[in-house]
Amino acid sequence: MRVRAFIGMGSNMGDRRAHCDAAQARLGRLPETEVLGVSPLVETQPAEGVAGGPFLNGVAELATALSPRRLLRELQAIEEALGRPPDHAPGTARTIDLDILLYGDRVVREVGLDIPHPRLPQRRFVLEPLVSLAPNVRHPVLDLSAMDMLRRLEAAVAPHPVSDTP
Ligand code: ADP
Ligand code: MG
Repeated sequence: MRVRAFIGMGSNMGDRRAHCDAAQARLGRLPETEVLGVSPLVETQPAEGVAGGPFLNGVAELATALSPRRLLRELQAIEEALGRPPDHAPGTARTIDLDILLYGDRVVREVGLDIPHPRLPQRRFVLEPLVSLAPNVRHPVLDLSAMDMLRRLEAAVAPHPVSDTP
């Protein structure tokens, strides 16, 4: 049975667009997997603690029969093929980063594999492209749609109104 999975993609090193395009092409060649859609790429500033310049970020939607663990291994092989060393230090600049954001409504909490991706609800640079692809897709633990998560995040970071003192 095929499951609808969403992959977060980011590059902040070298030819970022070429890396994202190459990653998409390789996702389309994975066994038992079809790319259903890809969001526009957005330019974003690196998250705190991540080295290097601005990112291009996007999200790809897959239909896949690969297991979550097998899919992770395939994503890591694509990262490596596109020049990301498998033993990279955390927070270093990357030619490509591929993360499993959602895998149907499956919840996986294992060593080295957390699905839904733990930082999904806090990352505007992932939620915006996700919303552009699939605003109604649901987070199975929070029971919120992608659009709900983005609205919540925007409400949380919006500046508090300054009260007018006479
Ligand atoms: P980050 O994506 O946070 O920048 P890395 O790409 O270096 O960091 O990933 C670190 C580890 O995160 C990987 O070795 C992988 O085992 C683990 N990981 C846990 N959950 C996921 C997931 N849903 N998708 C991708 N990697 C994951
Ligand atoms: Mg990653």
